[in-house]
Amino acid sequence: MAVAGSQRRGRETKGGSPMASIRSEQLHRATLEALAERGVRIEQIAEIVHFLQRDYVPGLTPEMCIPHIQRVLEKREVQHAILTGIELDRLAERSALSWPLQQVIETDESLYGIDEILALSILNIYGSIGYTNYGYIDKVKHGILHRLNDKSTGEVHTFLDDLVAAVAAAAASRIAHNHRAIEEGGAEGADGEATFDDPVTEGPGDA
Ligand code: MG
Repeated sequence: MAVAGSQRRGRETKGGSPMASIRSEQLHRATLEALAERGVRIEQIAEIVHFLQRDYVPGLTPEMCIPHIQRVLEKREVQHAILTGIELDRLAERSALSWPLQQVIETDESLYGIDEILALSILNIYGSIGYTNYGYIDKVKHGILHRLNDKSTGEVHTFLDDLVAAVAAAAASRIAHNHRAIEEGGAEGADGEATFDDPVTEGPGDA
């Protein structure tokens, strides 16, 4: 699927004619399609988020985690990270990368840490709780992360496992921040999501 491969950064082509910038909803849709195509459903991410937060937020259900995941997936930097990582996984799966990177990514070489570095760009948005959650979930490989780490399938998910873990950890952090704000007197929205501003993510350039 030609999601991001045909897009060029910047507003002008080589010939100087204007090139429309990618609209937010296009990038959002492409991200959801890429995840779905790689076998990752939002409900599966919600299951991880619930696992991370259930001991801290009384009454939390996996369904209640979904709006938080959706908010994470609306962030442009998150979309960029996911599309980049999935593209590299796909290319490695088709043996389309150059040596030695092909071998490194295809085998998920133990000393290769760029998959984790890319995932950190997602965690950066939500502060330090995200790092703790990410480290934990990366270790226990809960839910779909177990399948994504299964090297016997012939599929390559070197980047995707870390990206899914990071999205889940970020959503868990968002819930933790919002839960605290509710406890301190914030209102709750009609969809069960807190209506106050995200303490970390609302700022200049926020997609
Ligand atoms: Mg990985």
